[in-house]
Amino acid sequence: MTDSHPNRVESAAGEARFNRLLNTLKQAVGAVILFGPPGAGKGTQARGIGRRLGVPHISTGDMLRLQVSAGTSTGRDARAIMEQGALIPDDWVNHMVETRLREPDCRGGFVLDGYPRTRGQAAALDKMLSNNGTQMKVFNIVVGYNEIIRRTTGRRLCPRCGTIYNIYVKPPREPNLCDRDQTPLEIRIDDREDVIRERIQAYEKQTRPVIEYLREQKQAVYEVDGSLPPEKISEQLVEILTAP
Ligand SMILES: [Zn+2]
Repeated sequence: MTDSHPNRVESAAGEARFNRLLNTLKQAVGAVILFGPPGAGKGTQARGIGRRLGVPHISTGDMLRLQVSAGTSTGRDARAIMEQGALIPDDWVNHMVETRLREPDCRGGFVLDGYPRTRGQAAALDKMLSNNGTQMKVFNIVVGYNEIIRRTTGRRLCPRCGTIYNIYVKPPREPNLCDRDQTPLEIRIDDREDVIRERIQAYEKQTRPVIEYLREQKQAVYEVDGSLPPEKISEQLVEILTAP
């Protein structure tokens, strides 16, 4: 048997056809962008959609953390900025995303997580996408203030084994005691109500203007009810994304 075996040629042609079909499908998915306050489950949804539609999930936070843990010079700079609680400059994040979107697996379809975060980033993304004709699909996961507070402040952590509970959604069998080792549960520092209020305010201040910017650009923004169970939200997102 040689390399020019007819079946091999045929399967190569079949594979090329399959890849073209896959790319057409991805083109239809476009650039998926998710907005939502802390506790809305954005990260989970972004990962889920990526998996279900077979497109990459691109998280700028993950990319930066990877650089930090790899200890590259970029990572060291990123760590210094993040440790001061400051935002990574737009130019930097834009460049990172633009480079990632040039990879072949992004051709037409991908889910963005944590980007764009400012008007400047939204404008840069708009330019990147219109350069290659990729459509944006923007979702805003809407969760009421009280629901966010309930979800995040209801969280309890076992300091011994790390199990996470939620006194409203997933309570321990006995009040405030870990099911596994009966250790008294604790509240994480960043889940304290005053910290959550601050995180929500930061979100409102940063993200509202980005959504406004996109609407000014005549971009449709689909609102999704974030009080639904995660599987329901995921179903709605996929339904909208795969609608003809
Ligand atoms: Zn425990």
